[in-house]
Formats: sequence, structure tokens, C-alpha cells
Amino acid sequence: MSYLALYRKYRPNKFSEVYGQKCVIDILKNAIKTKNISHAYLFSGPRGTGKTSVAKIFAKTVNCLEPKNGEMCEKCAICSAIKENDIDIIEIDAASNNGVDEIREIRNNVKLLPSVGQYKIYIIDEVHMLSIGAFNALLKTLEEPPKHVIFILATTEIQKIPLTIISRCQKFDFKKITPSEIELKLKEILKKEKKELPEDVIKLISEISDGGLRDAINLLDQIITTSKKEITIDDIYDLNGDISINELEQLFDNIIKKDIPGILNKIEKLYNSGKNIYSIIERLVVLVRNININNNVNNYFSKKQQENLNKYSSISNETANYLASKLIKLLNDIKKSENQKLLLEITLLEILEELDIKNTINSIKNVNQMENKNIEDDKKISNESTEIISREIISIRINNALAGANKQILQENQKKLSKVSEYISNEKYNKVVNLLKNSSLIVCSDSYMMFEYEKEKDASLFNFNIEKIEKFIKFMLNKTYSVIAVTKEEWNKIKKEYIKNIENGIQYKLQREPEIKKKFSKKTDDFAERIFGEESIDIK
Ligand SMILES: [Zn+2]
Repeated sequence: MSYLALYRKYRPNKFSEVYGQKCVIDILKNAIKTKNISHAYLFSGPRGTGKTSVAKIFAKTVNCLEPKNGEMCEKCAICSAIKENDIDIIEIDAASNNGVDEIREIRNNVKLLPSVGQYKIYIIDEVHMLSIGAFNALLKTLEEPPKHVIFILATTEIQKIPLTIISRCQKFDFKKITPSEIELKLKEILKKEKKELPEDVIKLISEISDGGLRDAINLLDQIITTSKKEITIDDIYDLNGDISINELEQLFDNIIKKDIPGILNKIEKLYNSGKNIYSIIERLVVLVRNININNNVNNYFSKKQQENLNKYSSISNETANYLASKLIKLLNDIKKSENQKLLLEITLLEILEELDIKNTINSIKNVNQMENKNIEDDKKISNESTEIISREIISIRINNALAGANKQILQENQKKLSKVSEYISNEKYNKVVNLLKNSSLIVCSDSYMMFEYEKEKDASLFNFNIEKIEKFIKFMLNKTYSVIAVTKEEWNKIKKEYIKNIENGIQYKLQREPEIKKKFSKKTDDFAERIFGEESIDIK
């Protein structure tokens, strides 16, 4: 028995079997239901989205003697006959028949009545490939089509079709099929074929086929007919001419380690093995985006992906955002470039140089911050102040915490702070400890900590007393941090916006903080005393 390609085997045979294109199908079914049939249809849309399949189904259904709710009955004389061969449906591939003669032949034949059904249907695939002469010949037929003839023209490039043709057709736009719709179809086929594939492999096929179901099914076909026992996503990348995850990570590691010979060798190797430079950059962008999200949001990815991405938890948000914006720009530039490999090499070298400068500046900044902090601390201790923190400072601190957010530091400090209750008997800090006990540390950088509270009351209380909290944290962790608290609700909003910004390549940059105003009014002192007790304000 010869092997039947999966795509042919699982081609839809009726409207209800078509994936996606609900809008198109509804209108076509309704046309059949109300017997309101046009003589010319134009199906346009990306490749593999079902234009030809839907054209064939429509052609069969329109001749069915007893359609049910716009769907063919599959039982009547015509439905049974066309299961064998339908001589009233004529398919023409314009890509191989683009001459005037072929269209003239159609013009002569359209006069002949259909042999069994009510309609004779011409499906002209890739109609944009017709020559001007052929279009003119077709136009004559479309101007006065015999009652028994329906034309269905299909094209991936509507802009190449003359307006005179378009204006005589009922036009349908076929949309790309969503990855989740493709995933569903692939799973259905696998089940029928009694084959299994890992979830991440199915997901990847659905994503890289870019809305084309036919491409997805063909890729699935190739992958399940290989003799390999355990199929991984790298096999898919390989089939698609993309670089493997391993190769991608090697290249990325070289960038992070600033290993220039390593980077150049790797690019040379990938280039010589025929890998697509554009897709290498695209994959780097996605990797950086994933690292950034993984470093700041818990459980966004599958466990397996998280494990893989956790390797990069020491990369700061600032670095990741910088890399993402540079790579996205490169992605745009590379399309126009004559020498893509050279442009990639030069840009990566530029990135390394700028990263070097950035790192030096950051370390100087950190040292300065520390020194300033120490002086401030001394001042505060002698001042017994209560601080009022403005909205402006809150938002700057949120921004700065995100700009330098680092998952590794976060996890280390979460671990340390989980022992905060051990300090409850410390008379000086027991109120602070009580407040911290109910918080969760959610973002942490080298110099910032962001906490989350369920209740707004607790978050305000925290922000009202940040200096005392900072003192306690320094006492507990032996390191100075600027702290801030938000409510759970606020954090959800910040998180959403943050992910959106990362995806759009927007960088978070450190902002200068205005000095916290100190107030000595009776009112605030009273408030602080009420909350923290006299002994906790008086830190000496
Ligand atoms: Zn029928």
C-alpha cells in the first residue's frame, strides 16, 4: 500500500471538518441554505489556510440535492456519485496553466451543461499567476457567465489581481489559523494515527507553521515518519532549517561571557551549515524575552522550560532589556542587508562593547549608592525621624527595583527573610518583624527590594516606615537595600505592564530618587508611635 500523505488523508470533506475560517464557512453555508449563489468567488489569504479545501467543499455542497442547514447530505445521488469522481468540478492550477489558450478553452467549455449536478464549478488556484491576456479572457467569461457556471478563484496574492476581476467576485479573506487551532488539529490527527509526540513538540509545530495548517500537518508527517524514537523540539528546528536549542544557548553563552572568538566561530559554523541568519536573531530575541519574564514572574513557563531558563537568573533586567532592544533593531535592519552574517557579527561586537561600559558605570553607581546610604544612615539614627514617602518615590522605587531585578538575589533573600520570625523577641524591631512576617518579597535587585501585601493597610504602613524597615533589613542581612511595598492588586497591574514593555523592547532605566522628606509633626509621630510603639521609633 502506498503511503498517503497526512495532509491528503485528513483533508476536510465537509464544512464541519474545516478548522478555523468560521466566518467564511458561515456565509457560504448560508448562501447554500438560501439558494443565493454567486457566479464568481475570490478566496484570498496566506498559504495553507484552507482556500482550496473550502472551494472543493463548496463546489460539492452546491450540487447536493438535499443539503442540511447548508451542509452536504452525503447520501443523495450526486453526493454518492462525487465520492468516486466529480466531472462537474474542474480544477485548474494557474501556476502551471497561465496562458490565454487555457482560459479560451474554459470559455468554450463553460457553454456545455453540467453532466450530473445543477452547477459546473471551475476552481482556479493561484489565480494571480495568470498572464494579462489570460486575465482579459477570464474577464469576458466573468462578465456574462452562463447560469450553470460558478468560478472560484483562489490566491495568496490578492494585490496582483486586476480590480476588474475583483469587482466581479464575491470576496472572502481567509485568516491565518491560530496556533491553538492548529494544535487541536494536530492532536486529533495523532490520536487517529495512534502516535504520540511530546506536548512541547506539538506546540512548537503549531507556532512555527505561522498560521498555515497544511505546513503544520506536513511537518508533523515528516516528524512521525522518521525512525527516531524520542522526538524533541530540536528535531523540529532541524527539519525547519533552524538552529537547535543547544546551538542557540552556546551562542548566547558566548555573548554573555563576552567570548569574541567563540561568538565568531559559532556564527561561522551556523552559517556554513546553511542556517538562516534572520531566524538565529529571531530565536535570540525570544530567548532574551523568555529569560526576562522568567526572572521576574513565577510559574509563567512549564517546569521544564523554567529549569532551562533558570540558568540565566543572574542576568539583570537592565542587561536583558538592552539586549532585547538591540536584537529587535537588528532584526529590522537585517532584512535590508546584503551581508547578513557580517551585520550580525558587527552588531554583537557592538553589544559587547556597550555592555562593558554599562557594567562599569553600574558598579560605580552601586559603590556611590552604598557610600551615600551609610552617611544617610548615620544622619537618620541621630534624627529619630518618621518619613513620609510620596507617590513619586514609590513609583521610582518600583521602576528601579524592576530595572535591576534579579531572580537569583530574589531567591536568596526570600530564603533569608523566611527566618524573620526569629527576630520577634528583639525589642527594638519586633513591630517591624510583625509587619514583615505578613509580606512576600516579590522583586529584588542588587539594591532594591519590593514587597507585596494582601491588604492595602499593611502596604501603607510599610511605606510609612520604610527607613525603619531598611534599618532592620540591614541589621538582619548585613546589606543595604531600598525597600517599597505594593498591594497584590497593584502588583498584578505592574506585572502585566512589565511583560508588555518587555515584549515591546521597552527598557527600564534606573531613576534618581528625590530625598525622602522628613517630618517631625506631632501627628505623624503619634501615628508612628501607635503603630510601632515608642521604643521602636527610638533607634539609637
Ligand atoms: Zn447530497
